[in-house]
Amino acid sequence: KRGLGIDIAETRWDDIGGLDQVKQTIRRAFEWPQKHKHSMQRLGLRPPRGILMYGPPGCSKTTLVKAVATQEKITFFSINGASIYSPFVGDAERTLRQVFQQARSSIPAVVFFDEVDAIVGKRERGGSSGDSVQERLLSTLLNEMDGVEMAEGVLVIGATNRIDMIDTALLRPGRFDQILYVPPPDSDARKGILQIKTRRVPLADTVDLARLAERTEGFSGADLDNLCREAALLALREDIGAKRVNGRHFDDALAIVQPSLSKKVMEPY
Ligand code: ATP
Repeated sequence: KRGLGIDIAETRWDDIGGLDQVKQTIRRAFEWPQKHKHSMQRLGLRPPRGILMYGPPGCSKTTLVKAVATQEKITFFSINGASIYSPFVGDAERTLRQVFQQARSSIPAVVFFDEVDAIVGKRERGGSSGDSVQERLLSTLLNEMDGVEMAEGVLVIGATNRIDMIDTALLRPGRFDQILYVPPPDSDARKGILQIKTRRVPLADTVDLARLAERTEGFSGADLDNLCREAALLALREDIGAKRVNGRHFDDALAIVQPSLSKKVMEPY
């Protein structure tokens, strides 16, 4: 896979627990313009230019994008702070323009901004001169998304934990026109995630994933991943020849792995 920055491990939609609604919205935004172009045109619908995903950390925003990137035909570009910042003035903007240029010449393409709030920043009202790298990147991105050359077939996806740090100019129609809240997993979703994370783990009958899902309020997908790993490690530590992970290992793991989501971060903005 072509791309800039992070590696793109194969991710299938069913590697992601819960989030049926979110998955469906993303798939449609991405597949409809390709599969149902004429039907959309008939009803005067434009394909979305951008989707902004927001929600608490560790709840699979990046993983959702990886599932998009795993789709066969698309060319995937990923931009994060580390891949774009340069000590040389003007370099970051130039890189960004080049990425869009490449994306336009290899449609269908996705340009993904991880932690988009940290990359393009927010203009202060009546504040600074508009000359920080972030502010210049913001104008470049707005230009690229508005530009007449912005080809259909280029979808921009942004992910953030801090939607309050996103410049409102980016939220106007024609830019990020779909704002998607990626919620923390509820009990059902947690059960789904636990099932996925233990697919390759032999479990004893004493492990009750439904019950475990109920006991893990406030756990993000990433926390649940840690929990399963910790339980397996405890089983090994107890007996290096262990063949199964049992309920007690999970109980003990629960005393070690703490939920990272507080009530406050669990509400949509
Ligand atoms: P951040 O904002 O911190 O970047 P994120 O929302 O992008 O977080 P991911 O990086 O996608 O979260 O997820 C972190 C880890 O948690 C991944 O390794 C993924 O396997 C796991 N994970 C999170 N949510 C889910 C889920 N719904 N189903 C399966 N795995 C999940």
